[in-house]
Amino acid sequence: TLPKPRQPLLRTALPGPKTQAIMERDSKHLSTSYMRPYPFVPDHGEGVWLTDVDGNTMLDFFAGIAVSTTGHSHPHVVKAVQEQITKFAHVCLTDYPQEITTSLAERLVKHVEKPGEKWRVFFGNSGAEAVEAAVKLARNHTGRTHIISTLGSFHGRTYGAITLTGSKTKYKRGFGPLLPNVSHVPYPNPFRPPLGSTPETCGQAVIDHIENLFQTVIPSDEVAAIIIEPMQGEGGYIVPPADFLPALRALCDKYGIMLIFDEVQAGMGRSGKMFSFQHFDVQPDIITLAKGIASGLPISAMLAKESVMTWSVGSHGSTFGGNPVAAAAAHATLDLLEGVEKHPGCGESLMENASAVGGFIMAELKKMQAEFPFLGDVRGEGLFIGLEFVKPDGRPDGKLRDTASMAMFEKGLLNLDCGEAVIRISPPLILTREDAQTGLGIMREALAELQ
Ligand code: PMP
Repeated sequence: TLPKPRQPLLRTALPGPKTQAIMERDSKHLSTSYMRPYPFVPDHGEGVWLTDVDGNTMLDFFAGIAVSTTGHSHPHVVKAVQEQITKFAHVCLTDYPQEITTSLAERLVKHVEKPGEKWRVFFGNSGAEAVEAAVKLARNHTGRTHIISTLGSFHGRTYGAITLTGSKTKYKRGFGPLLPNVSHVPYPNPFRPPLGSTPETCGQAVIDHIENLFQTVIPSDEVAAIIIEPMQGEGGYIVPPADFLPALRALCDKYGIMLIFDEVQAGMGRSGKMFSFQHFDVQPDIITLAKGIASGLPISAMLAKESVMTWSVGSHGSTFGGNPVAAAAAHATLDLLEGVEKHPGCGESLMENASAVGGFIMAELKKMQAEFPFLGDVRGEGLFIGLEFVKPDGRPDGKLRDTASMAMFEKGLLNLDCGEAVIRISPPLILTREDAQTGLGIMREALAELQ
C-alpha cells in the first residue's frame, strides 16, 4: 500500500507547553553553544513526519541536516539495528575485523571504483572525523603540508576541520591558533560569480586564481591537498559549473596534489546519484562521507585510492569508528538507496526517487520564482535544493529568508537555512510527490504572505 499524503497537524499553538518546559531545562543544562532556531522538541517520527512532545506533527524538509535519508525509523533500518545490537554492539574496529564493516567497505567502494582502480575505507563517527582523517592521510602520503580549501565551505568543528571551514568567523573566533598552512580560495558560485567572472567563466577564474597563488605565495610542491565540496552545502547549496571540477582534477594532476571531495552533505544519494561529484566527469583521490550513510546512526567514512592509503599500521584509528550497529543501519540504508529493498511509492530506488521528486520540486520552485521577485535563485540536484532570497538590488536578503523560514515552520514545515540568505530543501529521500506537494503548498502560502 502507498503511504497516504497527510497534512501537518498542529494541536497546540507553537511552542506547546511540554515543548516550552523541555526547552527551559535544555537552556539551563546544555552547552551554551547550541542554537535553537525553532521551538521544536521531537517525540517520535514516521517517514517524513515528525511529531513533537505536544502532539504537533510536522513535515520534515531538512532531515536533521541531510541525515535521515530513509526517513524516521524506517522499518528496514530498525530491523537491521535490532538484529545487530542483539549480537554485539562494540568490539573496536581498530583492533579486530568485523564482517559487517568489511562488507560495508566492500559495498561503498563499489560505488567509486573505476576499472583498474582499488579503494580502501577508514571508518569514523562524524563528518569532522572523516575530514581529519582525509587531511592526515593527504599530508602523510604526499609529505607536503599545505591544504587549500574554499570560501563558504563547511568541513566540521574539530581543529583541523574548523581551519578548513571557510565560512562564518564565529566558528574560529577565540579558538586559535588553528592548523597552520591552510589557504582559502573562492568557490565558483554561478549565481554570485567571484573574481569578476561570469556564471560561464567562474570555474576557470577560480582555477586561474589557484595557479596564480602557486606562482606567488603558495609553492605548489608544498601543497598536499585541495579539499572541496563538489556541491557546497552549508555555504548555500551551490552547484558549480560543469567544467570546474574536471579542471580542478587536471590542476591537481599537474602539481601532484591530492583532490579531496567532501561528500558529507551532498553524498549518499541525495543528489540523485550516490555521490554528488558523479554529476561531473571527475574522480577524486579521497572522499569523506557521513550524515546520510546510516539514516541517523553515527558513522562516517574516509575513502581513498589504494595507491594513496599508504599510512602505516597503527598510525590512525578510532575507538567507536565503524560501530557495528551503525554499520548495520548503513547496510539497510544502502539497500534502500540502491533499490535492493524497495520503498513503496518511491520507484526502483531512493536515488531514483530523489532525482524524480527533486526534479518535480525544482520545476515547481521555478514557477514560484517567476511569481515572487525576492526568490533570486533556485538551484540544486535531486533533493539537494537551495532557495536564495534577494533584495530588489540583488543582494542577499537574510532577514527575509529568516521571516520566510519561520512562517513555514509555523505552518508545520520543518526547514533549515544555510548560506547568507538561503533555505535548504534536504528532505528524507523517501519523500513522495504528494508529500512534496504538501510542503510546496506550505512554502507558497508563507511566501505569499511576504509578498
Ligand atoms: N563536511 C560537510 C560538507 C558538512 O556539511 C558537515 C556538517 N554540516 C561536516 C563536514 C561536519 O560533519 P559533522 O558535524 O558530522 O562533524
